[in-house]
This record gives sequence, structure tokens and C-alpha cells, in this order.
Amino acid sequence: MKQKILHIDMDAFFARVEKVDRPELRGKAVVVGGQSERGVVSTACYRARQHGVHSAMPMAQARKLCPEATFLPVRGERYKEISRTIQKIMRSYTPLVEPVSLDEAYLDVTGVLHSDNSAYEIARQIKQEIKKQTRLTCSIGIGPNKMIAKLASEDCKPDGLQEIKEEEKDNFMIHLPLDAIPGIGEKTGRELERIGINSIKELREAESNFLYRELGTRGIILQKRGLGEDSTPVKANEETKSISNEETYPEDLEDRKIIKKFLFRLMEKVGRRLRDKKLEAKTVEVKVRRGDFTTLTRSYTGRRHTDVTERLWAAVVALFEEIKIDARGVRLLGVGVSNLRPAASQEELFEASDEQRKARLNELMDNLNEEYGDQTIVRGGTIIGQD
Ligand SMILES: [Mg+2]
Repeated sequence: MKQKILHIDMDAFFARVEKVDRPELRGKAVVVGGQSERGVVSTACYRARQHGVHSAMPMAQARKLCPEATFLPVRGERYKEISRTIQKIMRSYTPLVEPVSLDEAYLDVTGVLHSDNSAYEIARQIKQEIKKQTRLTCSIGIGPNKMIAKLASEDCKPDGLQEIKEEEKDNFMIHLPLDAIPGIGEKTGRELERIGINSIKELREAESNFLYRELGTRGIILQKRGLGEDSTPVKANEETKSISNEETYPEDLEDRKIIKKFLFRLMEKVGRRLRDKKLEAKTVEVKVRRGDFTTLTRSYTGRRHTDVTERLWAAVVALFEEIKIDARGVRLLGVGVSNLRPAASQEELFEASDEQRKARLNELMDNLNEEYGDQTIVRGGTIIGQD
């Protein structure tokens, strides 16, 4: 499946939140920004923008341009609260969400697509869900990379939804103004103009040797962007820092075999949650609370991330070997994983070695079977089923 990236950007976010919270402001110009003498505009609603007000403009100037507007202070906590709601919606579609600011994020949906068109469908649903839960609109651009996705969303604001497919990107790019390209501001724009480049088309067609001579590596990078190329990955922020599970037992446990069996059950649950969240872990922790309430934790950080139960279990076993069980018994057990990151894409996983993985799991099952008896085989079987 080809890579599909979404760029989601809320429309006039702060100003719209104020309008939702204060219905009397609807249909009126609203400017949110610093209230001090030197304050600047954070967000102007579209009505205020029609008067020439824009973000980063001194508030004093905004007041002159649009005296009838309502000028409001920034209510950071409220915007954060809504931002969390929006991010939660996004994460319900893919764990690969990279927030850029409170009102903007990139999503990599490649791994969750069923067909080539389903990125559009996901975007449509996200728009709908955000509207339903927050009464706010957003614009979503879909592209084969982050840059195209962002250009596509900017191009369809407000309340827009636009997909630019790989085969459409050339045509899309050449119709944009030169300064639409990230990194081309006023200064670079003038530099390009000086060397005879006034459009994206001219930037694309320039000799790369010439660009390199005039602008150095920067020239090459800008040309790549002009060609619609961008290889920066969507980096999910690690919202889930750890996953753990613990159980308290009605009677203190003393038998190592039985304790191991319970640990395996906990590990299995943790592993399943890890895979459900499409994450993999590098650190495994085992917690043991004894009958006298003394608590031990042991953790192990491997060299690689993994979401394979066999690997996680091997770490749990090794950690448990270090813990002495005595007459005090065990009243609580816990297993946790941390040091998380998004799992490799589904494709990678399947491609890698489905057979090898199955083989490893089979081996694991056999070992468990030998050690713990029939009940465990069934559990091992459910692991295979999931994977
Ligand atoms: Mg925005």
C-alpha cells in the first residue's frame, strides 16, 4: 500500500472555540490575542481576516483594522482541553499521530488502510467526529507525504477535504505559488528571483548544478520540495508511556511454577494491549509484592523494541529468576512494558517472517506445554490466533 499522510488543521481554532463557548459572538468578528499593550494576535476568525487581521499582527493594529471585533484573551487551558479531545479522535484511527501544535497534526494512516480510497474515507469520518464532539470545523489534506498533505490542507481551507495522490502531485505543485514551499519565505524568495526563478515550475526545471552553485545544499533541498518530495516520517508522540497489568491474589502464592503461570497470563494481556495500540516495547518490568507487603521490581531493557510475546516473556522469566520467593509468599504480581514506540508497519511485519514468527511461537508453546501442562497450550494457541 502506498503511503498516505493526513494533515489536519483546525479552522481559526482559538477564535472558533470562543464562538462555540459564547454563542452571542457567532456571526461577529472575533480576535484572540495578548491583551497587553504589546500583545499580538493569536487567531482571528475568518470575518476579522476579511478586514486584513491576521495572526502575529500587533493587537493595536488589529483594533484599527477591525474596531467592531470582539478582542479576547487567550484561554490556553480551554484550547488544550479541546485539543486533547481532537487528538483522542485522531488516535482512534491510528497511533501514528504527530501533533504540530494544539490545532494541527499529521497522521500516517498507511498501516490502517483497506483500499486505496480509504484514506479519504478516514479523513471524512475524522472531520465528522471532530464536528460532532467539538462543534468545530477543520481542514484535512491527504498526500503521499507530509509536505503534500499540508499543502493540500492549506489549499482547501476552511472546512475542506482534499486528497492529492502521487500521480496528481506534479500537476498540483506547479499551480502553487513559489512561497507555498516550506523554506521559501521573503528572503529566499528574493534570492531565487535574483537567479531567475519565479515559479515552482522554474524551480523544478532548474539545473541542480546551478542551484547548488547559487544556493548550496539548500538549493537542492528546495528543488526536491518543488518536485513534491518529502521523506520525513510522521513521528508519533509517545502518549502511552507504559502498559502494565497487575493482580492481587486471594491467597499468597508460594509455588514458583504457579507464580510463573500467573506472570504468563499478565504478560499475555500486556502483550495484547501493546499490539492493539500498535506499539512495541524495549523495557519489561516485573513487580512482586510479598505477603508482608515488601515490594520488588526488576526491569530489563533490551537492545531492540519488540511486540512479540515470546521475547517479552523471555525477559519476564529472566527477571523472575532474580527474585527469591520465600515463606512470605506473593500477594501481588505485576508485569509492565515501557520505552514504547510505534510498531513497524503491518506490511513490514508480515513481510519480515510470518513463518519464522510462527515457528518461534510454536517453540514457545511447546516449551510452555512441557513446563506447565495443557492449559497453557490453549493460551499459546490464542496468541497465534491474534498474530
Ligand atoms: Mg489552524
